Amino acid sequence: MQWQLLFILLLVVGSAGPTALAADTDFTALRSQIETSRQQGNLDQAEKLTADYLAMATKQADTQQQALAYHQMGNNAMERNNYPLARQQLEQAISLLQPNGQSIALANAIRRLGMVYRYQTDYASALRYVYQAMQIYQALEDESEIANTYSSIGTILEKMGQYEEALQAHQQSFALHFKLGNQSSLASAIYNLGDLHRVLGDKDKALAYFLQTLQLDLASGDKLNIAYSHNKLGYLYSELGEFTKATEHTQQAMMLFEQIGAPRDTDWGRTVVAKLAMEQGDFLKAQQLLDGVIERAKAHSYKSLLVDAYKMAAELALRQNNAETALRYTTAGIEQAQQNNERADEALLQHMQVQALVKLDAVREALAAMLRQKQLDDEIFNSKRAATIAAIQAQTDFTRQQYQIDLLQNEQQLQQAQLEQQHLIRNFWISGLVAAFILMISLYRRYVQRQQNRRLEQEVATRTQQLQQKNTELAHAYQQLEIVSLTDKLTGLHNRHFLESHIMTELEQCRRMQHRSDDSLPATHSELALFMIDLDHFKSLNDSYGHSVGDEVLKQLRHIMQQVFRQSDYLVRWGGEEFVAIARNINRDEVSHLAQRFVDAVQQTPILVTGCQPLHISCSVGYACYPLPLGESAMHWQRLLKLADLCLYAAKYSGRNGWVGLDNCAAELPLSQAGINAAQMQAWQLQGLLQLQHSFGGSVKWQA
Ligand code: GH3
Ligand code: MG
Ligand code: MG
Repeated sequence: MQWQLLFILLLVVGSAGPTALAADTDFTALRSQIETSRQQGNLDQAEKLTADYLAMATKQADTQQQALAYHQMGNNAMERNNYPLARQQLEQAISLLQPNGQSIALANAIRRLGMVYRYQTDYASALRYVYQAMQIYQALEDESEIANTYSSIGTILEKMGQYEEALQAHQQSFALHFKLGNQSSLASAIYNLGDLHRVLGDKDKALAYFLQTLQLDLASGDKLNIAYSHNKLGYLYSELGEFTKATEHTQQAMMLFEQIGAPRDTDWGRTVVAKLAMEQGDFLKAQQLLDGVIERAKAHSYKSLLVDAYKMAAELALRQNNAETALRYTTAGIEQAQQNNERADEALLQHMQVQALVKLDAVREALAAMLRQKQLDDEIFNSKRAATIAAIQAQTDFTRQQYQIDLLQNEQQLQQAQLEQQHLIRNFWISGLVAAFILMISLYRRYVQRQQNRRLEQEVATRTQQLQQKNTELAHAYQQLEIVSLTDKLTGLHNRHFLESHIMTELEQCRRMQHRSDDSLPATHSELALFMIDLDHFKSLNDSYGHSVGDEVLKQLRHIMQQVFRQSDYLVRWGGEEFVAIARNINRDEVSHLAQRFVDAVQQTPILVTGCQPLHISCSVGYACYPLPLGESAMHWQRLLKLADLCLYAAKYSGRNGWVGLDNCAAELPLSQAGINAAQMQAWQLQGLLQLQHSFGGSVKWQA
């Protein structure tokens, strides 16, 4: 009986392990499917898979997985812009996770909830939740999530009009992502920084940032992010008056938003289409689009979008000189912005209202609106939360102050004249005294005002300086990013991306030099050679000494390359243990010597690695000279590369530690035809059509 029990026990223990493991893998796989569907904009599929996920978790009574399912449901709802539902799902996830103490999953759900509040314009709650999540990430020392959270904080602060803090938060996020080498998150950090630059009026910089973001987004393939980037670019280009580009980007954005089926974002896209129509003078189309957006934004409580739409509708009315309509839109917009606690937008709308009232000749109301705007501006200024905008604000104050001084002076002059007149009639001396007294007061006031102006001037100068410094830092970081993306991390040589973005120009220049003068011979040193270099038996070097020694060898190869090739040549790590060198401004009859020199240098230079005997390595090289009759110029690079690669293979098959190179070929040779392969090369060589050189005594072996 006991034996039987033990047997059953063993069976149970034996089966429990693998099953639990399999279930975990199922969940992970399903979760990544859900995320992929969402990224591809297939929300129906994402929702269906999430329901399966929840069912599976419930069946296994696994609360952790149930919580993750609710989080996914929240994400789905957010993507559909259904914020109340998203909140409900995320709260459910949080309540399931909380009993287990602090965890990344819990922090993720809390931060996401914060972002839902942000979309509902409840910024205070949004910040509270996001900071709560930040505390957990910090306690768990998760740097990547800390970086993401900085970016969430930045977007919330930006919406609250606290630009300086927003800039700081985005910069912190950028710096951390940069440090961690996190490409896709870098995209959103750059996007956020670009948007801030746009808000602060530096459109050229914003454009550069947005274009960079779009490139990174396209590389990562996230549809919603790609759509956002296109939309922003559409808006910016329409502001810059580049309508063709604006139309292209706007159309791309709308197409993607509609594919994804996100109604709020689609309407957001429509406001950009309306903006474009307005800039191009198609007021009717702009109006129709905005009417639709306003109606839906009201119905679905897209509060922030509603303010944006009112702003644009008011601007449209002002442009058409329709002051009453502008007044109506600004009034509605101001009320909504107040409700949303979006003070920067409120101030902007107030400013537009002043314009509308002035157009209507309603001087009193205009003055009242101006005072309200001033009060708002002061509130924003006094709260000292927006140093960047404060620079602009301080400038406005400065100008206004000067304007007030002029007014006061006029007033005082008038008073003075009146008084003088009266007193002259009554008593010349008394009037003189009074005039002197007034003059003194006026001088005193001017003195006080001048002091005040000086203070303001100083403040503007410091703020401007701070802003300039921030801009320099940003530009520097941007430059760094560019260098990093074009450089191979291990060797410090250029990478493939660098070469691919320069080579077409290089080849074209080379061709142009050939045909510089139509009668004389081509200029000397006007040709180019492409070397493909591959280290011999590198795998066994790795196997014998370890990967880190292999890495060291790759690093030192850079020095050998730099010694043999010229400073103006392009030296590139092509991948793994393969390198490419582009020798520029060379004669093709010198290229074989260069190949021999390089092969010798590699063989003769011992590689010194601490803790190892000096290592001796060798390499094989294939090269092809340029120009060659390669057909249409767009294909030259690929074909040249193919030829050098075939030569490299020939060098390998012929015994390694040597080189094979194509100096030239018969002009009628159909190198442009598809399918150049080793057999073909061999045949051409036999027919004497190739001008080939090599370092192998006998003949070259093209194939194994
Ligand atoms: P062959 O002479 O035919 O070129 O032989 P091979 O062993 O060099 O060729 P193969 O392409 O089979 O192996 C290349 C090896 O290079 C495989 C891989 O382990 C190693 N490798 C690729 N990238 C790196 C790297 O970044 N660091 C190190 N240490 N090794 C690398
Ligand atoms: Mg290789
Ligand atoms: Mg190799």
